Amino acid sequence: MEMLQIHVGGCLCGGVTFETEGPLRDVVACHCGQCRRTSGHVWAATSVHLDGFRLTSDATLGWYRSSPAARRGFCRQCGASLFWKPEAEPRIAIAAGALDSPTGLRLERHIHTEDAGDYYAPAGAPPPAAGLPDHIGCGCLCGGVSFDLPSAAGDITACHCVQCRKLSGHYAASFDVDEATIAWRCRDTIAEYETPAGGRRGFCNRCGSSLWFRSADGAFSVEAGSVIGPTGGRLAGHIFVGSKGDYYTIEDGLPQSTSW
Ligand SMILES: [Zn+2]
Ligand SMILES: [Zn+2]
Ligand SMILES: [Zn+2]
Repeated sequence: MEMLQIHVGGCLCGGVTFETEGPLRDVVACHCGQCRRTSGHVWAATSVHLDGFRLTSDATLGWYRSSPAARRGFCRQCGASLFWKPEAEPRIAIAAGALDSPTGLRLERHIHTEDAGDYYAPAGAPPPAAGLPDHIGCGCLCGGVSFDLPSAAGDITACHCVQCRKLSGHYAASFDVDEATIAWRCRDTIAEYETPAGGRRGFCNRCGSSLWFRSADGAFSVEAGSVIGPTGGRLAGHIFVGSKGDYYTIEDGLPQSTSW
């Protein structure tokens, strides 16, 4: 029997919601610099013909023209990375992390793997940490936010909690930083979103890039995808794996935890 396939989803704060009708393409993980910068790690998306796509709320939807050929859609309130719209095609790519579970999809391939970050491998175990940069530069895709950190990233943790999945579009990867050591170069377009537990997510309100998280107790972490160039870090483990999406498996052999 042919079932009508309906999927719903949205950003973390609920300001942007959507539904799709009809089959969705299996998920493609993109490791290009733009996807890594906006998502904070790796962006993964399904795709649907525009005839099968409907915004049910666009109250906080923003668009950033990331290239002459495409725009990126994000939530201006919570910073979730949601959409990629190629201008010349009647389809829209939708972040897999924005879809409500179960998605019934599977991650079918990785693209632009040559642009992957130095701290993970698109498939399999991460490479050994390369040379340590003496400082690292970070920033959003549009350049409205940029800052330097005084040392290499060190251990990087992947988080599969629902918040991180909704905001990044796939799952997050970040490393601890002493906030007092950040050397700001530009902070014109910083926005912050307060999470239900009292943490604050920093993102760019012009391009939607995920930048950092400050927990209620002041612990500060920077999204690994915001690093421009080598991080000098290495993915060290996965947390909140019980909340991970149904469309991917974790196959890098690193420790997994169902909590912190
Ligand atoms: Zn939102
Ligand atoms: Zn920006
Ligand atoms: Zn998380």
